[in-house]
Amino acid sequence: MTIEWKRLSGVPFGDKLMASPPLARSSSNGLLVIDLAALRRNYRLLSTAVRPAACAAVVKADAYGLGLAPIVKALMAEDCNTFFVATLAEAKQLRAIAPRATIYVLDGLFPDSAAEFAAAGVQPVLNSLEEACDWADYNDRMFKRLPAAVHIDTGMNRLGLTAEETGRLAADEALLENVPLSLAMSHLACADEPGHAKNAAQRDAFAALAAMLPAAARSLANSAGIFLGPRYHFDLARPGIALYGARFSAQGANPMEPVVGLYGRIAHVRVAEKGETVGYGAAKTLSRRTTLAIVAAGYADGYMRRLGSSDESEGFAVYLGDYRAPIIGRISMDLMAVDVTGLPESLVRRGALVELIGENIPVDVFAAAAGTIGYEILTLLGRRYERIYTGS
Ligand SMILES: *Cc1c(COP(=O)(O)O)cnc(C)c1O
Repeated sequence: MTIEWKRLSGVPFGDKLMASPPLARSSSNGLLVIDLAALRRNYRLLSTAVRPAACAAVVKADAYGLGLAPIVKALMAEDCNTFFVATLAEAKQLRAIAPRATIYVLDGLFPDSAAEFAAAGVQPVLNSLEEACDWADYNDRMFKRLPAAVHIDTGMNRLGLTAEETGRLAADEALLENVPLSLAMSHLACADEPGHAKNAAQRDAFAALAAMLPAAARSLANSAGIFLGPRYHFDLARPGIALYGARFSAQGANPMEPVVGLYGRIAHVRVAEKGETVGYGAAKTLSRRTTLAIVAAGYADGYMRRLGSSDESEGFAVYLGDYRAPIIGRISMDLMAVDVTGLPESLVRRGALVELIGENIPVDVFAAAAGTIGYEILTLLGRRYERIYTGS
């Protein structure tokens, strides 16, 4: 990805200065590079892994922060035709991009919202008997038979019908008559821990409960669930994070290709003396004469404050070419300082780019340093970065 980026950017990056004209605006504070070819290869890997089951894509939260429209178009080019989002607003956006796709709304049906689902041609995931009754009422009143999915809770205690409620739904022919079920689904709580006993228990509970319902298809596996093996695949897999290249499992190597690169612009270079402090709170005292590059990215861009450093604690780092540059002091809203003392002048220039996430800093390493998971990093990536989609 970095090589392609070098070619695209036309700005000094690494030790090479690329000759091609910059596609990136020289005024942008930072660049988010999203590799759609890698995304498509990730989808292909997952859809092959689950065959003969089908493979949907979870594109909630603006496709995990990476941009709904370009992500969905790239996935449709791989013949992906079923998508999951969290909210009806996301579903409406998606419908405009994917006129013929099957769209499920995971957060389900809020009171009095059935008509809006119907108008958008999207299906709620019915998360309770109440929601099922609402959908049935709407179908009954409008003389329609619009399909919906049903979520069966098998141990997450978040959304979905309990075993007892699933039994009541299965026994209620009048209700089922007005709730054509296109899909029965459940969600694994511990799929990222392959050895966890809850996985098999949820799988078995789901198989038994789904068998009671006249649903057309069954779906259990998220990204991590896919790698638990074929017994978890049922008819439709629902990966999200693996498509976007971040780690889905607590253990083992990440088999997915990275999709995201993040680069910040050097706004300013300055030298500060030994004994001086840097940034808010005077949190970091310099132990030597230091060249500082001030990078135009901060916590408003999703570069979390806890990645900063102080006299008491070491912080995280960025990369200039192959050189690691530690963060000095607190992360501000829009800026951070990094130590570039002694690095080649070709790299330490106003306007040059530094790697925040990329070849040297995988998103999972970044996430671990921030004490969180790749999911949160991706969905927090701010709106201020210029976005470049490669490989489309
Ligand atoms: C978000 C979500 C997924 C996708 O999970 P990943 O771990 O990102 O693959 C699947 N199913 C449900 C119900 C979800 O909420």
